[in-house]
Amino acid sequence: MIWDVHAHLPAEGRTPEEQMTILLRFMDRMGIDRVCVMMGTPFLTDPTPEQLRKQNDQVLAAISHHHDRAFGFVYVSTHYPDASLRELERCVKDGPMVGVKLWVAKRCSAAEIDPIIAKATELKAPILQHSWFKANGNLPGESTPLDVVDLAKRHPKAPLICGHTGGDWELGIRAIRSTSTLICETGGFDPTAGCVEMAVRELGADRILFGSDVPGRSFASQLAKVQGADIPADAKKKILGENLKRMLDPILKAKGMKP
Ligand SMILES: [Zn+2]
Repeated sequence: MIWDVHAHLPAEGRTPEEQMTILLRFMDRMGIDRVCVMMGTPFLTDPTPEQLRKQNDQVLAAISHHHDRAFGFVYVSTHYPDASLRELERCVKDGPMVGVKLWVAKRCSAAEIDPIIAKATELKAPILQHSWFKANGNLPGESTPLDVVDLAKRHPKAPLICGHTGGDWELGIRAIRSTSTLICETGGFDPTAGCVEMAVRELGADRILFGSDVPGRSFASQLAKVQGADIPADAKKKILGENLKRMLDPILKAKGMKP
């Protein structure tokens, strides 16, 4: 069972529906059972409320006939907390989406994020916050794992995921291990040997989720981090699917959706 917590729609395809068909073909080829799909096109680092809504509409269209294979995560922005709360209501509370994606518009240590996190927690929706430690400097609103740790300490009950484990995973894992609740995600950075082994050693296999960040990365390169890791078989099972299933279980139950 392989569930991917971090996927985007491929560039090929004229409509979200066509993009989803292409993504499903790649999933079938690589043995991926489920993906969490988030954000759309164009690529924007600081989308307006209108643009957020449009991108969420693309994901809603993409997943609409594939609820057995694809979950939707609503794209929100701390730059627009009120509009984000409306999107959470529209897409998660009243719609089919089951998670939240926050990217680089504003650092997640900013207090303006708090109502968004509180609402997502109330809805039992896992929150995937992008994070990176960039050697050449982060974007102005781009969070590092230290910002996500700060957020996790302010919201100890929130189902928070530290996206990309900070990219520079040796630093990311060290930051994340200062909390007991924060979950890390394996996608997006180069498939360097040892990353998942260190995460298992420092955080435990229960706190790691497989993510690919397709199509920015390939399923193959990102799966290899876990499948090729020198860790026990039951740890691989947890990371590849069981942990995400457990994390989504409360919201799926609350919404009456089949796991
Ligand atoms: Zn991504």
